[in-house]
Amino acid sequence: MKAKERMAIPRQYPEELTPEERVKNFKEVTFGFDEETAIREANRCLQCKKPKCIQGCPVRNDIPEFIALLRDKKFEEAYWKVRETSTMPSVCSRVCPHEFQCEGACVRGKKGDPVSIGMLERYLTDWMVAHGKNLAKECALPNGKKVAIVGSGPAGMTAAYILAHLGYACTIFEALPIFGGMLSVGIPHYRLPRDIIGAELYSLKNCGVEIVYGTTIGLDKSLTDLKNEGFDSVFLGVGAHDSRKLGIEGEEGTEGVLHGVDYLRRVLSGEDVDVGEKVVVVGGGNVAIDVARVALRKGSKDVFVLYRRTKEEMPASGIEIHHLEEEGVHIEMLAAPIKILQEQGKMTGVECIRMELGEPDDSGRRRPVVKDGSNFIIEADSIIPAISQNVNHTANKGLDMKLESWGTYTVDSKTLQTSEEWIFAGGDDVLGPQTVAKAVYQGKVAAESMHRYMQGMDLCEGRDLNCYMVDW
Ligand code: SF4
Repeated sequence: MKAKERMAIPRQYPEELTPEERVKNFKEVTFGFDEETAIREANRCLQCKKPKCIQGCPVRNDIPEFIALLRDKKFEEAYWKVRETSTMPSVCSRVCPHEFQCEGACVRGKKGDPVSIGMLERYLTDWMVAHGKNLAKECALPNGKKVAIVGSGPAGMTAAYILAHLGYACTIFEALPIFGGMLSVGIPHYRLPRDIIGAELYSLKNCGVEIVYGTTIGLDKSLTDLKNEGFDSVFLGVGAHDSRKLGIEGEEGTEGVLHGVDYLRRVLSGEDVDVGEKVVVVGGGNVAIDVARVALRKGSKDVFVLYRRTKEEMPASGIEIHHLEEEGVHIEMLAAPIKILQEQGKMTGVECIRMELGEPDDSGRRRPVVKDGSNFIIEADSIIPAISQNVNHTANKGLDMKLESWGTYTVDSKTLQTSEEWIFAGGDDVLGPQTVAKAVYQGKVAAESMHRYMQGMDLCEGRDLNCYMVDW
């Protein structure tokens, strides 16, 4: 097929549940491509000589190569091409904000729509499952060394997968009674069905990875205890699960005030959380969007999102914003809460103020500036701020580990070794709240460093460290 013919193929879009149907349940919203559609979409790829998509992918998947294999119906080979670089394509293909990563870099996006890379990756993982194929590599023989992994999120899962396949006896310590970290308690089922997380757990257990639930490192046992118990190295992947506060009057102690990731953790763990009929969600990222959509599915009638900039500046993925609005959530832009109103300790509403956009800030986005005298009140039963998350430092109690001023663990940027030479860290506890693919990438880097550390090798020598210098 000539480039001109490829350029003429329009981007293929997946089928979806209707908005009316999906707000009644937590079923997956987006369906996968069928074979014909996947191949048609794969034919849109120009097989660029300098493929920008690879640079846009945090784990550096060889995108043109897997698309070429898919196009030739070599689905299994294409899947294993992705697996050379990614430990969890079935997750990343569903939850990554592709428009800001691989698809955002695709050259076809310069004049039209980029290749639907995420959907093609998903097609391969779905094809493997549908055809009963093994999704993981063969396990390795034990090498006699033990590794502790703190946290079962994507960074910890990745480190465990790689180290277990090098023969290390891995034990994951998870504070919660469920596996998966933010994948399980931060991402709703309609974006990531739980059998996908179950498959990741199965592949780890299959290679002897032990999971210890309900154990909080720093409370139930310390990092030093792990060292004394004979663990040769530790990976710290505790994520960023502490909700950042608005810092406004009425936020503490008022009934009806919940915080984003706390709300998601409780609902997605099966708790019935009543937030009433009218709910205000604050924030513009994917957590805020998920909170609003979950509240709708749990029966709230009138849900809206308050955001201090405009829709164009929202950090959430475009498709999530689109789904949110389709489901009937209103986005109140250029507005911020300044006071939570209450009567006898129960929230009655929120006082807000209008904003306007000023000069760009360090992030390049225009800074919101308060419009004096523009106060207004929204009556509501609940407010759920979802403005970001901080790292919780319970895990390092008793150890004087170096931290950045914003609270993430200080690590060597190439090896991810912390200030304690036997402890490595990665994922949100190093990056702050970030994408699954970035956590996977750091899990990979840390696993390689830990392997070198435990084998008495130089952490850097002979390693292509340039590829780790990622500009995020
Ligand atoms: Fe294909 Fe886009 Fe990557 Fe080029 S940049 S190889 S068109 S996916």
